[in-house]
Amino acid sequence: MAYLERDQLGQRGPGDATCAGLIRGIDHIRNPQLNKGMAFSIEERQTLGIHGLLPAAVKTQDEQLELCRLNLDRYTDDLSKYIYLISLLDRNEKLFYRFLGEDVEKMMPLVYTPTVGLACQKFGLIYRRPRGLFISIHDKGHVYDVLKNWPEHDIRAVVVTDGERILGLGDLGAHGMGIPIGKLSLYTALAGIKPHQCLPVTLDVGTNTQSLLNDPLYIGHRHRRVTGTEYDEFIEEFMKAVVKRYGQNTLIQFEDFGNSNAFRLLNKYRDHYCTFNDDIQGTASVAVAGLVASLRVTRTKLSENIIVFQGAGEAALGIAWLCVMAMKKEGVSECEAKSKIWMVDSRGLIVKNRPSGGISEHKIQFARDHEPVDTLTEVVKISKPTVLIGAAAIGGAFTSEILESMGKNNKRPVIFALSNPTSKAECTAEEAYNATQGRCIFASGSPFPPVTYGGKIFHPGQGNNSYIFPGVALGAICAGMRVIPEEAFLNAATGLADMVTDEDLESGNLYPPLNDIKKCSLKIAVKLMEYAYQNSLATVHPEPENYEEFIKAQLYDTAYTTSIPSIYPWPKF
Ligand code: NAD
Repeated sequence: MAYLERDQLGQRGPGDATCAGLIRGIDHIRNPQLNKGMAFSIEERQTLGIHGLLPAAVKTQDEQLELCRLNLDRYTDDLSKYIYLISLLDRNEKLFYRFLGEDVEKMMPLVYTPTVGLACQKFGLIYRRPRGLFISIHDKGHVYDVLKNWPEHDIRAVVVTDGERILGLGDLGAHGMGIPIGKLSLYTALAGIKPHQCLPVTLDVGTNTQSLLNDPLYIGHRHRRVTGTEYDEFIEEFMKAVVKRYGQNTLIQFEDFGNSNAFRLLNKYRDHYCTFNDDIQGTASVAVAGLVASLRVTRTKLSENIIVFQGAGEAALGIAWLCVMAMKKEGVSECEAKSKIWMVDSRGLIVKNRPSGGISEHKIQFARDHEPVDTLTEVVKISKPTVLIGAAAIGGAFTSEILESMGKNNKRPVIFALSNPTSKAECTAEEAYNATQGRCIFASGSPFPPVTYGGKIFHPGQGNNSYIFPGVALGAICAGMRVIPEEAFLNAATGLADMVTDEDLESGNLYPPLNDIKKCSLKIAVKLMEYAYQNSLATVHPEPENYEEFIKAQLYDTAYTTSIPSIYPWPKF
């Protein structure tokens, strides 16, 4: 038995849970961070005192991976696959992350959307063992003390939700925990951020979903949401506690907060903390990346386009603002940039002096000086957009009439049906290609299968936020950024667009292949570091000479390490 020091554990530091006390041989099997399963060599088994606790065969990680694939494929429903994967994470962390990273296209929908939505809905049923930190409104005044209970000391990234707007599923309260867990597993799988540096948090302030309040399996506090000053003070205390415990440059990613809190909290904290909201800014960045890539096909500047949005929520407004920033970079004024944008919400075109009542604060910036227009169809007729973006979760909103007029008015119409899940998509890829005789440039939020039109096969791209947020997080952590300005997301967008090849565009895809996402994360992280040092936002000094090499040296390694000699120094005789 021996104490483990930082280097002897490869990537962990003193003070970590496993380092705090004595590590016994059996802990190497029980602790998922140390466990290698049957990959422990005979020498390791004997030295650690676990010989006999494992069957005789010794497997390689590749053989274990093959076994994982066989096991996963035995399950026929996605929720069971999710449960299998989480139980693998509970057993053997390195194997789990290698499994995830090796086939991103297959695994991402299982650990994140859409399956994570099912997992959140059934969270009370499938909850097995602690993962992530629950901080409740009743801990107000003691949030720091609760944070101190988290056993890891070197946290660099926190993903936090209050569960109010989980995906398109609404208020799931404490069951929203599946989201920060899933998101952070992508931080590691797609960007190599070390798992022990990631902390998933659910702020349990209650839920307004009556069926959950009545559900005996519900795991959170059984009362309606606490709002107003008490809620704000709680969030404020949480932000301060994170910084007090883990440092000013700890990344805090807000995730799946309700619409008005999401905008409000982003505006309140963005200039004071290293924080971003993926639903608003990550979405904006990935959508603008697609738009920037589309300009190579339409041979236009972004500011030469007219963009109509169906929806004016977190996604649409985030995209609209980033478009304005991108247009301003092309040399147009903010006023002119905004004039290119038309936004439609549930009450029609967003116009000043709306007869049906006021406009919420975050929409007012895009209100047009125009008479009211009730429907998207009319807005498209009047504005003749070159780009049509759907993010209102109204399935089928892009009718054949709308799609055909996009085709009639444009040689290469740009159509983004971003709403999720697939049933909420504004149109299918097939509908868009058919209505525009295969001329449209299409992207979607949910994946669509390839479409054949006029003898050509199109592979429509998926504007998945995962292209952006892991890389942004990696760059922010490696530079120790104090804040993450909006411009960083434009940088990330152009960096991603640069990675789209002519072949991708030719096949109808505005994004690189999903399986290349790890390369995208690295490139985006490098761009973010450049930006951070150029703008004096980095706190890691001295400035690395080579950003890419510096980042690569920090990445989590899923390969097993053999560390018996250094963990167990033999006494000298
Ligand atoms: P949100 O609740 O913040 O916004 C929804 C908006 O739709 C609101 O402005 C609402 O007024 C508007 N709306 C409702 N009914 C409407 C109607 N009949 N006509 C026009 N507008 C209407 O939600 P959000 O976070 O903005 O997400 C919206 C959709 O975008 C969801 O389906 C989500 O899955 C999807 N999304 C996709 C991506 C992506 O593809 N990468 C990222 C984020 C969100």
